[in-house]
Amino acid sequence: MASEEGVQERLDSFVKVISSAMKVNVASIYLRAGDDLELCATKGLKKTAVHTTRLSLNEGLVGNVARRAKLLNTAEASEHPDFVFKEGIGEERFHSFLGVPLLRGGRNLGVLVVQGKRARVYSEAEVEHLLTAATLLAEIAVEDERAGGAEARLKGIRLTPTGAETITGRAFADGLAQGRAVLHLPPVTAGHMISTNTGEEQARLSKAIRKMRRSVDAMVDGEMGSMSSASKEIFESYRMFAYDRQWLDRLHEAVHSGLTAEAAVERVRNEHRARMLKARDPYLRARLHDLEDLANRMLRSLGGENLEAGQRQLPDNAIVFARNLGPAEILDYDRDKLTGIVLEEGAATAHATIICRTLGIPLVGLAERVLDRVEADDEVLVDGEIGEVGIRPTSEDVSEFLVRVGIRAQLDLAFEKQRNLKAVTKDGQKISLLLNAGLLVDLPGLDGVGADGIGLFRTEFQFMVSQSMPRLDEQVDLYKRALEAAGDRPVTFRTLDLGGDKILPYADPVPEENPAIGWRAIRIGLERPGMLRYQLRALLQAGAGRHLRIMFPMVAVVSEFQAARTLLDREIARIKKLGSDLPNKLEVGVMLETPALAWQIDAICKHADFVSVGANDLMQFFFAADRDNPRVAGLYDGLHPAALSLLAHIANRCKANKTEVTVCGEIAGKPLEAICLTALGFKNLSMPVTGIGPVKSAILALDTGKLAALLKPEISSASDADSLRQTVRKFCEKEGVPV
Ligand code: PEP
Ligand code: MG
Repeated sequence: MASEEGVQERLDSFVKVISSAMKVNVASIYLRAGDDLELCATKGLKKTAVHTTRLSLNEGLVGNVARRAKLLNTAEASEHPDFVFKEGIGEERFHSFLGVPLLRGGRNLGVLVVQGKRARVYSEAEVEHLLTAATLLAEIAVEDERAGGAEARLKGIRLTPTGAETITGRAFADGLAQGRAVLHLPPVTAGHMISTNTGEEQARLSKAIRKMRRSVDAMVDGEMGSMSSASKEIFESYRMFAYDRQWLDRLHEAVHSGLTAEAAVERVRNEHRARMLKARDPYLRARLHDLEDLANRMLRSLGGENLEAGQRQLPDNAIVFARNLGPAEILDYDRDKLTGIVLEEGAATAHATIICRTLGIPLVGLAERVLDRVEADDEVLVDGEIGEVGIRPTSEDVSEFLVRVGIRAQLDLAFEKQRNLKAVTKDGQKISLLLNAGLLVDLPGLDGVGADGIGLFRTEFQFMVSQSMPRLDEQVDLYKRALEAAGDRPVTFRTLDLGGDKILPYADPVPEENPAIGWRAIRIGLERPGMLRYQLRALLQAGAGRHLRIMFPMVAVVSEFQAARTLLDREIARIKKLGSDLPNKLEVGVMLETPALAWQIDAICKHADFVSVGANDLMQFFFAADRDNPRVAGLYDGLHPAALSLLAHIANRCKANKTEVTVCGEIAGKPLEAICLTALGFKNLSMPVTGIGPVKSAILALDTGKLAALLKPEISSASDADSLRQTVRKFCEKEGVPV
């Protein structure tokens, strides 16, 4: 049958090769067809049984293998408790049975079986051989199916996930994207599975294992001193896996059986994944998760041909799928092609999320088990407005989506019309809407949305996307370009805020149990002043003859600010001595990101020219809720009465000290939160590029006096509300404020 040739031919020839290579009487392939297993190819059983024999997952030895995703090796099949006799296949003459699951990406595609007339248990070498064959078969059959399209498929059976699926996650970065799926860690392709030199592959594998162990040792040893006993246990068990003999033996055996090191890691990872998805016990799931993590580390260190995420060929509209991504990993991708991101994990104020917002890339996170349901190159719709992902959408899904894209384009047009309007409330408050930026690609956004300047320039982004520490001239060049793009509008440069989840690819990681409240930002700058001084020098050079604004991140006590300011003064003195030009106006500010500094405002205002509220960090420390941890994301609400009361206190104290204050956390870019900040008295809001249009629309329709009157009694410490979100929303409905 011409229409079924691709995969069927492959299966038929596969069973022939297996039966002769392993010298067995029977070799058969059963594939998943819905909830059943269908006999799809055989050498040795009756041909008439092919495509007519089906077993449920609870039926027989084949069902047993599929259900448990584990091999079964028995000398006398009929004596096994799960054995069932199936009429019409001609199995009755056979005794020995060896079945292995066909695993790919943690999905179980079916079962590969060999049987023999003689009652015997298959040897370890034979088991290995069949496992290797199964790894290959799963990969090749899927590739055949994908390459051949509809023509190549088996009737009623798809090896790759089929049909439209909608997965609900959380909307982390706004926007709509249509494109093709790219897996951040793609499965090893069949072309790179079989080794031509087993000795060489063993050596590569051993090297990768050593490297993985070293990194695990460094991580665990580095953390031990400061850890609670529960954490110690977890880390020790992680290390235990890295040294687990069984796991390592499985890897070596797989290479010995003819696989490349990458394919061996992939095979063992698939086996664990399949089991992990079944495990109910959270502890066990977490441990298997560790193993997968170790496998990923090894795949990365093996650096197989198709594993360098950033350097792969991408389709024009790439939607990247991953369990999680760090900010630097996102920046590694070709930005002209990256149109959307879907993560199984992720968090609303993680830096990766901020990067997506800055770049205008829609991001849906917390999309549960999405990696098991998507295949590379699937068509995908990413809805960063409501947090949904459509995989292999129907044509109706696509049409509906395109209608929404059209509506969004109209909205953008409406924002565009407001571009040259100043953001002034109905009762005459002028609000300055500034941009959060950090890279060259952000700069066109200034004019694109009509921003009043750059309120937060995250200088560490340049350090994160570079392969090595940016040289002085490279830093100067970027800062100059930012100043030039802004013209006479202000630009506020934040000095390096490294640490936490912002890790430099070229620096040795410093393991810490609580990196967000550990050695980061100004703390690193003051303890290792070389890098900070170098950066201050670059900023002063770039700002020569211009207005320059610099601020220091994560200041907790006033003396930190003073120490940083002293470093800056030294750099100024150096430039003066050299007779070079200085900025014609220099303002030095502080980021208010620690609750402690909110209680030192009168003191800090004596030293700092301005204050910028880093609400992302401030809120995580205020609510003791990790900004990167999805589990506690619900606690973290800028419209909680306590949060608003803290923010009101900051606005009031800065006003009393006549010190300029800006809010530059993500809340400034959300219309509902932004109007509340305005009502509390904040006149400067700095936000991602996508926030400016919607926030301006809301501000133009706002009467701050009315909202302030509504909020005032609600934000007293007597309030027991979890959030004022609904109250403010109702106000907006009544007042016609678009949020
Ligand atoms: C913040 O914490 O609000 C902030 C603006 O800094 P970052 O998000 O870069 O930590
Ligand atoms: Mg911060």
